Amino acid sequence: MGGFWDWRVHYLRFHYKDFVGYGRLEGDLIRVIEGDLFGTYKVTETTVPFAAARLLVPCLPSKIVAIGVNYKDHAAEFKKDPPSEPLIFLKPPSALLAPEEAIVYPEGVTKRVDYEGELAVVIKRRARGVTLEHAPSMIFGYTACNDVTARDLQKKDGQWSRAKGFDTFCPLGPVIATDVEPSTLRIQTVLNGETKQDAPVSSMIFDVPTLVSYVSSVMTLFPGDVITTGTPAGVGPMRPGDVVEVRIEGIGRLRNRVV
Ligand code: MG
Repeated sequence: MGGFWDWRVHYLRFHYKDFVGYGRLEGDLIRVIEGDLFGTYKVTETTVPFAAARLLVPCLPSKIVAIGVNYKDHAAEFKKDPPSEPLIFLKPPSALLAPEEAIVYPEGVTKRVDYEGELAVVIKRRARGVTLEHAPSMIFGYTACNDVTARDLQKKDGQWSRAKGFDTFCPLGPVIATDVEPSTLRIQTVLNGETKQDAPVSSMIFDVPTLVSYVSSVMTLFPGDVITTGTPAGVGPMRPGDVVEVRIEGIGRLRNRVV
């Protein structure tokens, strides 16, 4: 998966034989971690071939806080003014979906299901009322998210719980990368091999520390919670049979098909 494993640490959750839990990537091996990566754990001597493991969602958040309209070019494509403060909503943990698993199209309920490729922040420690200065120390690492959205229901309902909350509407992964400077990253969404979104994370309206601080002023964040930071321009529809990939350099490719 590239030479970047050398200097960044990548954690993941996986299933292999009778083991379900966390691991740390080392080349094409996974080193098994016993215990809770966000609590007490031990890095063991046991390794598993990466190619033989089935990846799971990389953490188990108590909540997924999503940020709306956080890229100017995305605001423009929806003819909205950039917000004066972060716009937050929640996606339920029941919507989480592992890499390579299938997004289920709610046929008959919606006529328009969109991908939204996003950089997601994974929280390291309990955080409440965190200052901008302390926000970086609350971050465990970064992963990729597809904020799948039933666009017609989002418009119809006025609030977004249903449109954003169907089971399988929150693909997350494939790994959590630590020691990453988010403003240097680029986010791409590829649908059936065609690049649909391609933007530097630095073009966000509110940067990651601002988001962590802001969200923590509203609700307590717990270890393993996820803040998904909004999508750039280029959102569009998916249909059953499509394959969608969110790619972030240094994190990898979050690929799912639609059924
Ligand atoms: Mg979004």
